[in-house]
Amino acid sequence: MNQPMMDCRFLLRLFEQTGSSMNANLKGKVAIVTGSTSGIGLGIAQGLAQVGAHVVLNGLGDANEIESSRKALEAYGVKALYNNADMTDGAQTEQMVHDTVKALGSVDILVNNAGIQNVSPVEDFPPEKWDRIIAINLSSSFHTVKAAVPYMKKAGWGRIINLASAHGLVASPFKSAYVAAKHGIVGFTKSVALEVAQNGITCNAICPGYVRTALVENQIKDTAKARGITEDEVVKNVMLAAQWTKKFVTVEQLAGVALFLCSPAAENITGTSLAVDGGWTAA
Ligand code: NAD
Repeated sequence: MNQPMMDCRFLLRLFEQTGSSMNANLKGKVAIVTGSTSGIGLGIAQGLAQVGAHVVLNGLGDANEIESSRKALEAYGVKALYNNADMTDGAQTEQMVHDTVKALGSVDILVNNAGIQNVSPVEDFPPEKWDRIIAINLSSSFHTVKAAVPYMKKAGWGRIINLASAHGLVASPFKSAYVAAKHGIVGFTKSVALEVAQNGITCNAICPGYVRTALVENQIKDTAKARGITEDEVVKNVMLAAQWTKKFVTVEQLAGVALFLCSPAAENITGTSLAVDGGWTAA
């Protein structure tokens, strides 16, 4: 599902006002954002383009909508490409990284964001859905990182940002595959961070609470079915019950966190999982 362009200029002003170490000027850097044809990924791609990074979009969806998202990024004066690599296919996923370097000269920022969900009791969980969730939400990041790290090491700079989830830190019932994959990505983040710590590369996870994207709209329906409650009850009593602010996290807030992780102020932040969850995992 395509989404309106968001305005990250307030972030730029914030960075400008708070001094140069916070300045996420990424002019000329090259970023890949997996799963960026909608939701959080598209928002992060927009944020990166607004501070000067060339961006490779990736993901599924309507070709016309993807093309209009790509063109909208170019309006920020950066290069924007679309790569249709399927994140269930390791070879295609790695090739996307090599194609990016061929086309744009480097890969400096890698945002592993593609993700899917399935809500079901474990005994009824379809094995093919388990495999697909593990492939897209976990293994695709292994493939992008494996391909990107040699380029980043050579450049002496890199930023790897993995979109995990509050479900990378705590569990909920009926989401066994998603919780397993997200806990996995948090561990993967730590291990990679240690390996590349002396190469100017950081690797961090962002752990959002609920954000009202297509992924969550579908979950509202499925969770209502799995728990035998109404959709309104899912929002109030399941999703926002866990978020102490009683507010959904926004795509703009997550783009801001991603830009911060690319800024000089975050040079020594690596191997962490940044919870952006309205207090959910503090309780
Ligand atoms: P979304 O459904 O809007 O976006 C998911 C993206 O992944 C889309 O661009 C989709 O095309 C892409 N994708 C799916 N299968 C793919 C495949 N096989 N190959 C390539 N791309 C594929 O969802 P979102 O809410 O923006 O989620 C983005 C990330 O944030 C996911 O990893 C999700 O787990 C995580 N997250 C979301 C929330 C939330 O509440 N929305 C909370 C925590 C974490």
